[in-house]
Amino acid sequence: MGVLVCCDCFFYRKSKTKPNGKKPPAEEKKQYLEAEFTKVRVVDFDLKELVLLPREIDLNEWLASNTTTFFNLINLQYSTISEFCTGDTCQAMTACNTIYYWYDERGKKTKCTAPQYVDFVMSLVQKLVTEEENFPTKYGKEFPNSFDSLVKKICRYLFHVLAHLYWAHFKETVALDLQGHLNTLYAHFIVFVREFNLVDPKETCIMDDLSEILCAPVPPTPAPAAPSSPNSAPSPSSHNHVTER
Ligand SMILES: [Zn+2]
Repeated sequence: MGVLVCCDCFFYRKSKTKPNGKKPPAEEKKQYLEAEFTKVRVVDFDLKELVLLPREIDLNEWLASNTTTFFNLINLQYSTISEFCTGDTCQAMTACNTIYYWYDERGKKTKCTAPQYVDFVMSLVQKLVTEEENFPTKYGKEFPNSFDSLVKKICRYLFHVLAHLYWAHFKETVALDLQGHLNTLYAHFIVFVREFNLVDPKETCIMDDLSEILCAPVPPTPAPAAPSSPNSAPSPSSHNHVTER
């Protein structure tokens, strides 16, 4: 099995034959690409319009508030399946054919389980977004010069968590009937990072097949057979989430 080192992750190249002569297992079926699941969303408005920098809003303010919101929502989404993401079920932080390794503050590479990796990500991001010198909230306080690279770093890590959710925990997400939330969150996140060039496309390309489907405009839903009454129940809210970890 050929190994290509790229940034902090390894891509396991699929070769036709393993060194021991055995054929590799067939590529795992990506359940999350099936139309039955990709069509499920909790909102149907134009995400591109949603991420555009509003006039009169400072770019850094916009990036800070969106990044913090994505952090909270992705943390929440992960918490819905966290009981299934254990050191036994997920011995490495995998997504497609990639394994992510954690680098500590001194740059030392550490192999860790997926729950450990997610915990490192969430703890680091929580620390960054709540530090006044990194994400200032007080009037007149300047954003640091490193703000752009901090936001990029956070988005890269959050992408790893989303990719792991699809790759390793989609079945459990479907069992909880939360695939619509995951799809909407993922599409919103991808449209946002693309708009502001926050994550290297080389990083997100492992999920391009899904991104292309989910980021395409939602096909119009067929009109209901019966006329809807003005008192009919509203559509499910995107805030209908489960408790935080
Ligand atoms: Zn996992």
